[in-house]
Parts: sequence; structure tokens; C-alpha cells
Amino acid sequence: METTTAMIEYRDKKSCAHALISLVVPFYNEAPIIAAFFDAVVPVLRGISHADYEIICVNDGSTDSTLDKLLAACKDNFHIQVVDLSRNFGKEAALTAGIDAATGSVVIPFDADLQDPPQVIAKLVERWREGYDVVLAKRVERRSDTYVKRGTAALFYRIHNAIADITIPENSGDFRLMSRQVVESLKRLPENRRYMKGLFAWVGFRTAQIEYARCPRVGGKTKFSGWKLWNLALEGVTSFSTLPLRIWTYMGGFTAVFAICYAIYLIVRTWLKGVDVPGYASLIVAVLFLGGIQLVGIGVVGEYIGRIYMESKRRPVYIVRNTYRFGKS
Ligand code: UDP
Ligand code: MG
Repeated sequence: METTTAMIEYRDKKSCAHALISLVVPFYNEAPIIAAFFDAVVPVLRGISHADYEIICVNDGSTDSTLDKLLAACKDNFHIQVVDLSRNFGKEAALTAGIDAATGSVVIPFDADLQDPPQVIAKLVERWREGYDVVLAKRVERRSDTYVKRGTAALFYRIHNAIADITIPENSGDFRLMSRQVVESLKRLPENRRYMKGLFAWVGFRTAQIEYARCPRVGGKTKFSGWKLWNLALEGVTSFSTLPLRIWTYMGGFTAVFAICYAIYLIVRTWLKGVDVPGYASLIVAVLFLGGIQLVGIGVVGEYIGRIYMESKRRPVYIVRNTYRFGKS
């Protein structure tokens, strides 16, 4: 990418300035890997020059000993802050809570399971210092994910990007760096059904990309079953596109035109050959086909009405039970 004069000035200012890096990490029943997480992440953050750090750990209603372990880590290291949500709100809400609590000049959402190597954080900060507002971490190697997950993810991105108003970069998750300005823009988006990957892409800004290989989880199990991923995909498409609604206008139009042509054909045939009683098969096919199409159509409309209904309640995205920060506050 070309480096403009404005970017060079910006970069020079930033590379000398002292930055505060906020790592935002959602935790949902991750007790077995918490020790390994801090052991891996803290040295990397300490090693970044001209920068201080804070780790915002969001406990997303865990039912195991995650909170206790986070609090123990928090007592040991005053850079660690724990935001304890009142129940499990889901990863998107937990990330929103963490991003709202972060005070850094850059904010980096990060998974607790170390599937994204912490060393990449240093590279993200390096690119940010070159003058970019967003630095995307793109997975070039996903062998740690199953074949089915990779295949369905690729299909999702293709469909989503073909019909949505925004383009979500393929193979990049929530792991990325955002400058304070980007974070402030993100906070201004008022919707409470938050599909973070879409919102990140929507705000825009100068974006750089780095590549990395995604590893297997260090322990524990994935929290995203096939059904949860399917719902997330629906959320993604319906958050950023109204094409699924519009499709029904065309479908209805085509079916109506077809029906008129067929009616003309029947009239002409009756006129030429007289009345023809048999026709049960074609009738039942037409009834079932149209019935099915109408039900799907109503389902899609219902999906959007559901979204309008949820948005109209204006409920908060998450509720914080408590925030913990020990030592220097
Ligand atoms: N997570 C969360 N709330 C949830 C589900 C997941 O905060 O309801 C967190 C989880 O603890 C982890 C991150 O989101 O830090 C990613 O989850 P996971 O690794 O299970 O997803 P995958 O990598 O399999 O897509
Ligand atoms: Mg994971």
C-alpha cells in the first residue's frame, strides 16, 4: 500500500509517543486455560517498546471457576482488569463490554484460547505505528479448524459479501487492532444486536493487513456449535443486507408472470380442444410449491420483523455485575 505524506507525519508522531495497548478478552468457561493465557500474553505485552498495556478480561457469565481465576490473576498484576457480566450474553456482547471498558490508544480483541498467537500482537502494533488505523490479522493457515468449519466459513463469506452492503474480509476473525478513533466510531453505532465483524468492517478507516497461522486451542472446548454458528451467520447477513427481503418481490413477480402465461395457455387449449378434466398432478405440485415458497417468504419477513422488535426494546447490550481492578487504579 502507498504511504502518503500525511501518513509519514502521523507515523513519526506515533512511533515516539507512549501508547496504551488494551487487550480485550472474553472468557466463557475457560478456567483450564487461564494460567496458560496470562503466561503467554503478559511477556509479549511487556516486551512492546514505548507502550504500556491493560488486559480487559470480560467474564461472560461463566459457570466454572473462571471468575476466581481471573480475580487471582488480577490481584497479581495491576494491568489486569476484570469486567464481570451478570450472565452469559454471548461473545459479541462480551466484546462490546470489553471495548467499552478499554481506555487504550489502541484496542485489540483477543480470544482466551490462544488460537491466535500472542506474538502477532507486537506485529499489529508495529503496523499501527506505520500510520494505519486498523490492522487486520488474517488467518492464512486454518488447519487447526475442521474441514467442515473452513468450508462453511468460506461459503458464508462468499454469500455475505455478494449480498451485503459491506465486505467482511475473508479469514479474519475479531482479532485485529483498532485505534482510539476507530473504537470511538464503533461505540457510536447504536444497534443492540451486535454482529461485531460486520460493525468493524462498517466503520472503515485506513486498514493494513498482516498474516498469521491459527493454532489449535490450548485447552478446553469451542463454545460455538454448528447451530450457534448458523445463527451467527444469519445474524451477519440480516444485519447488513435487505436483499433476502427484496428477493421475494422478484420471486412473486416471476411466479405471477409464469401463472399468467400458464393461464393464457390453458384458455387457448380449452378453446381449441375443449375441457380437459385430468390435471391433479400439476395442481398439487403448483399448490405445494407456491405454499412452500410463501412460507419461506413469511419466514424471512419474520426474521427482519424479529430484529426490528428486538431493536425497538432498546435493551442494553450487556449488564455489568462488577468491575475489578486491584493495586494502582
Ligand atoms: N466466548 C464468550 N461467550 C460465549 C462464547 C464464547 O465470551 O458465549 C469466548 C470464549 O471464551 C473465547 C472466545 O469467545 O475466548 C472464542 O470462543 P471459541 O474459541 O469457543 O470460538 P472458536 O474459536 O471455536 O470460534
Ligand atoms: Mg477459539
